[in-house]
Amino acid sequence: MIPGQFNYHRPTTVGEASRLLSTLGTEARPLAGGHSLIPMMKLRLATPEHLVDLQGIEGLRGIRREGGRIVVGAMTTQHDLLASNEIAQSLPILHETALLIADPQVRYRGTIGGNVANGDPGNDMPALMMTLGATYRLEGPTGTREVPAADFYQGAYFTALEQGEILTSVSIPLPAAGHGYAYEKLKRKVGDYATAAAAVVLTMAGGKVVSCAIGLTNLSEKPLLATEAAQAVIGTSLDEATLKKAATAAQAIMSPAADARGPVEYRKHVGGVMVVRALQRAAGRAA
Ligand SMILES: Cc1cc2nc3c(=O)[nH]c(=O)nc-3n(C[C@H](O)[C@H](O)[C@H](O)COP(=O)(O)OP(=O)(O)OC[C@H]3O[C@@H](n4cnc5c(N)ncnc54)[C@H](O)[C@@H]3O)c2cc1C
Repeated sequence: MIPGQFNYHRPTTVGEASRLLSTLGTEARPLAGGHSLIPMMKLRLATPEHLVDLQGIEGLRGIRREGGRIVVGAMTTQHDLLASNEIAQSLPILHETALLIADPQVRYRGTIGGNVANGDPGNDMPALMMTLGATYRLEGPTGTREVPAADFYQGAYFTALEQGEILTSVSIPLPAAGHGYAYEKLKRKVGDYATAAAAVVLTMAGGKVVSCAIGLTNLSEKPLLATEAAQAVIGTSLDEATLKKAATAAQAIMSPAADARGPVEYRKHVGGVMVVRALQRAAGRAA
């Protein structure tokens, strides 16, 4: 289908974009890679009167190290993430996850900012960012604030972004040296959103888990941190009983929708399987 009519704006600074979004009100939306918003507009599920394109703003794209953190500009594409040696070496789970998003065509245009700001429970980056303890930089008419990814998601397509605010970068603390990681995603076919997915970052010493974080994608109306499941594996060698306990604890917080990807029971079941696989693969990679 063809989208409805809209006005197109191309600001060159964050301040100008923010002013436009505040002045034009709720009928205005930022446009990044357009690979979530434009399909929604074509289906008339979104009918913004104004699109404020962020492509013309310099400085919103790029990956840099700031002390113990990696800062990724909002307009950095998923392809940029995959091409980055810094990401491959310092944050290999981000490389692994980006590679599981859609297909190369989508990844050439889709941005990290659009992926995390969208609020779609099917997006892969939000649960990963929560697992990594990332924060989002939001710039708007009243100033700048840093919001932890874990506090950003409030419901499906409902986030902490206020009118006029733009997510300008994502800041990710470097995981401990020798950490193990895995992003396990079950999808119906290449290029599909997750039926269920789990992110795990852990550290081990003497064969036992010392620290662990587990995130869940598309298993609720918002991304989840499976805190009790992560707690259940600490101090263990990830024996079979512990893995089962972790899967059960994670399943207890899952509330996926029944949709074309399967009924609720199936999606919770495979959600548990993703948690177990991610824990096992992460442990195998931990130094
Ligand atoms: C066929 C197909 C398959 C896909 N499969 C997957 C998948 O498996 N996993 C996955 O994670 N994604 C998937 N996607 C979505 C893709 O990754 C999108 O590119 C991404 O979700 C949105 O990024 P974008 O840059 O395209 O944002 P846009 O579509 O431009 O924007 C998305 C939303 O975020 C808002 N927004 C964008 N940038 C900002 C910002 N900086 N600050 C504030 N608000 C902002 C927009 O107003 C809009 O509401 C798929 C898309 C397609 C078309």
